[in-house]
Parts: sequence; C-alpha cells; structure tokens
Amino acid sequence: MPAKFDFHLHTSYSDGTSAPPAMVEAAEARGLEAVAFTDHGPELSVGTPREKLDLILQDIELAREDAGIPVLASIEANVVDERGRIDVEEEFTKKLDLLMVAIHNLRGTNDRLEMARDYLMRATRAIEQREVNVFAHPFFLHHDLLPHLSREEIEDFVRLAAARGVAMEVNMKYKAPGDEFFALCLREGVKLSIGSDAHTLAEVGRIDWALATLRRVGAKREDLILDSFLR
Ligand SMILES: [Zn+2]
Ligand SMILES: [Zn+2]
Repeated sequence: MPAKFDFHLHTSYSDGTSAPPAMVEAAEARGLEAVAFTDHGPELSVGTPREKLDLILQDIELAREDAGIPVLASIEANVVDERGRIDVEEEFTKKLDLLMVAIHNLRGTNDRLEMARDYLMRATRAIEQREVNVFAHPFFLHHDLLPHLSREEIEDFVRLAAARGVAMEVNMKYKAPGDEFFALCLREGVKLSIGSDAHTLAEVGRIDWALATLRRVGAKREDLILDSFLR
C-alpha cells in the first residue's frame, strides 16, 4: 500500500455534517497519515459563505493543535466560467496549505461531447492561471466525460498538469476516471491525490477503491502528493 491519507473532506461549514476535530479523530482512528479539509468554495449553492472562509481556517488551526497527524487547510474552489476563474481570491488561497479546484457547473447542455469540451477548456484555463495543487474528481460531472475527448486532448491536459505541478485526484465518491487515465498521469509525472469526498464522519478515510486503483496502476509512495505536504 503506497500511503493512506485523505485530502478531500467536507465539514459543516459547507455541506458536511461534522466539525473538523471530530473528523480528525475519525481519520486517526482509521489509520490515516494526514488529512486536508476541503469545504466547497462560496459559489456553489451549498458552498461556504464568503464571510465564513476565515472562520474555517481558525477552526482547522484548532483541530490541528490537538491532532496526532498533519492537518492541512484547503478548499474545493469552483471553476466558475469559461475563462477558468475560481471563486476565491489569491489573498485567501495564500493562507491555505493546498489549493484544490473542481468543476461542478458547465454551461447548460445535456450533450456529453459539448460538456466534455467545455469541461476541458475550463480545466485547462484554471490550471494555467492559478497555482493549483490538486484537481478534484477530474472529468467527472454527472458522467465520466473522459470517453468524449480524444487521446491527444487528454494527453495535452495531463502534460500541462505535469508542467504546472497539479496533482490529479483519485476520488472515492465518483470512482472515475478509469485506470488508463491515472496510468497516463504516472507516465507523464503527474502526482496523484486521494480523496474520500467525505461529508459525514463515517466516510472519512473510506478510500478502498482509491487504494485498489493505485495498486492496479502501480503507483508508489513517491507518485503521491502526500510527502510534499508533510513537514
Ligand atoms: Zn466536488
Ligand atoms: Zn467535494
């Protein structure tokens, strides 16, 4: 097993049910090496209200004081438009240990090819313009959109992620994309992250599918982002 950690946790500041200290306790009980809190950015309907962004950081700081494992402050920022802008300012993200971004909205269409194109453009522009550490549940929005992109488009994106130092997340909630994508990431030098996407205490550290995926694609500890964030 390369490493057990969970860099995708939602607290009651967004749509989760619990506060950071209880989630850290659950993580320790399940043998995780480290966690990162990633509440939703303010532009999602269930996101963290802007005026509470700094409060979360204080709460994470308190949870960290009592924790026996490293506890990182992060956010699941939303890419909000076709130019790849995200819903938190640089002034806020520089206070974080790591920045995770995700796409939860596209322009209204049910056509999967159009969705995939729009997704790719937003994802590309987002990682081009901000210092993103983790890209959450890549190419999943209602469906796995990756099969609608060409091999060349996917490779270009993965190479850009490698050049920009952006890790791709192996997300437990959506269990997508498939092994081929993560194997490509490893070949191109893109690191991988693990996220349960927990919204409840019971889900913290539930990462069995992610660990199985990492084993299947032959990921080693040094292929994961964990060690770059441990001090
Ligand atoms: Zn998400
Ligand atoms: Zn999430």
